[in-house]
Amino acid sequence: MIQRLAIYPGSFDPVTKGHLDIVVRTSKLANHVIVAIGKAHDKRLLFSLEERVALLTSEIEGLKLPSVSVAAYDGLLVDYARTVGASILVRGLRTIADFEREKTMSALNHALDPTLETIFLPASEDTRLISSSAVKELVRYGKTLGFVSDAVAQALFKKLEVG
Ligand code: ADP
Repeated sequence: MIQRLAIYPGSFDPVTKGHLDIVVRTSKLANHVIVAIGKAHDKRLLFSLEERVALLTSEIEGLKLPSVSVAAYDGLLVDYARTVGASILVRGLRTIADFEREKTMSALNHALDPTLETIFLPASEDTRLISSSAVKELVRYGKTLGFVSDAVAQALFKKLEVG
């Protein structure tokens, strides 16, 4: 049997139910999935790398999927993929804007390493409105719309000193 290792990279600031939906669906396509948080990131982040890894790890444990693990990586994603022996990168698409950005990213990654393929999964109907940035904005007004788990909601309220 061909062993397929997939990496699902992201900021996960914080992990949402939209992310978890992609994780569950990816676990059916690959023998193993590494949900990976890059150490270097140019976006303004709310949670530290350690906090994001801890939240993500606890959410992934809750899924009870033995073929999924969490990791943090340093440097270029393609280099990390080569180091762990991954052949697939997975990204989720909610909008055309996601697609435009992701298309460029996947072309860059393919230029860096032609053996690495990016697979796009369309957001599910019931999670397509979810984004980490929307959750962070909502929490400032005491709402989450059920976009994240109770544990992640608590972490957000604490971090933003709301409620
Ligand atoms: P990044 O900063 O790398 O975009 P994110 O944590 O925002 O990190 O997103 C990681 C990946 O998850 C991206 O491919 C993003 O499009 C996807 N994603 C985020 N939210 C959803 C969702 N609700 N449904 C499907 N895919 C999603």
